[in-house]
Amino acid sequence: MAYTYDENNIFAKILRGEIPNSTVVETDHSLAFRDINPLAPDHVLVIPKGPYVNYAHFAEAASDAEIVDFNRTLGKVVALIGAGDAGYRLISNAGRNGVQDVPHLHVHILAGRPLGPMLFSG
Ligand code: 5GP
Repeated sequence: MAYTYDENNIFAKILRGEIPNSTVVETDHSLAFRDINPLAPDHVLVIPKGPYVNYAHFAEAASDAEIVDFNRTLGKVVALIGAGDAGYRLISNAGRNGVQDVPHLHVHILAGRPLGPMLFSG
């Protein structure tokens, strides 16, 4: 599948330093920062620094180093926010049916309270 990356999406602007963010972890290939509109006491977004639209694009096109770094960064965030014991949820929305607002791959890490059912039916 061909992916078109929009260089003007809000996370691209964050990565270029044009918009401030509340950074939790930064590595060579990834950035984790707090969501501006948190849906749980801890709501962190993890993004790769490379131009990937969604998870499938990343899994297909990113280098091994980027993929390892991204996953290790997710793990670091879970440890840093202390969510490992009580638990947390990872969500990565993609495309129209996934209701993705920002077209740069991001994984939401939600924690700090019971998060309820995974989805509502219908
Ligand atoms: P999506 O619906 O694409 O999965 O989620 C996009 C997320 O990005 C939303 O949870 C939204 O609150 C967050 N967001 C949108 N704009 C900004 C921003 O400028 N800064 C931060 N930190 N988060 C943002």
